[in-house]
Amino acid sequence: MLELQERILHDGAALSQSVLKVDSFLTHQVDTDLLSRAADEFIAQFEGITKVVTIEASGIAPATLLALKLGVPLVFAKKHKSVTLSDELLTTTVHSFTKQQDTRISISRQFLCKDDKILIVDDFLANGEAAKGLISLCEQGGAQVLGVGIIIEKSFQPGRQLLEEMGVKVHSLARVKSLKEGEIEFV
Ligand code: 5GP
Repeated sequence: MLELQERILHDGAALSQSVLKVDSFLTHQVDTDLLSRAADEFIAQFEGITKVVTIEASGIAPATLLALKLGVPLVFAKKHKSVTLSDELLTTTVHSFTKQQDTRISISRQFLCKDDKILIVDDFLANGEAAKGLISLCEQGGAQVLGVGIIIEKSFQPGRQLLEEMGVKVHSLARVKSLKEGEIEFV
């Protein structure tokens, strides 16, 4: 998605050789027009989506725009057990790239079922831990995963390869080849 690449070049900042900051349009302030057009790109790639699944917090904005356009529910995995989360839970552990720690993530069993055809959406793909965890929750719920839709993939990290080796289709709207201070290259 050329528009997204241009936006990353204009407004993104490489914080290191592995971390990209895009707080001005994706991960803090959100450009909903851009994400609406991103949703159109996902719709063109995946057929038959009945539910969109993501993980809190930064996946929720792109996933919401997509679910709204499709007229299907959005379910987001929760990272912390709250008192309101009293139902039977599907859970797994993911290693967080940004926090460098293991986090338990959960979805109530009642929100995933065997009839669901799921597109998993997230803001970033790095090592693939978040996506792999979401795939596990969907499989525990008996749902079918149609694929993974990513806004920004860091292609120098192993996430795509991990997911493809699991047989999962990955569609990323921007694929970053390398990051250096003041320099962002695309695949
Ligand atoms: P993964 O699980 O694929 O290793 O990492 C994906 C998750 O880590 C995403 O949900 C995203 O929130 C976060 N993440 C990974 N890399 C970056 C990055 O370069 N910048 C930002 N802002 N978040 C990232």
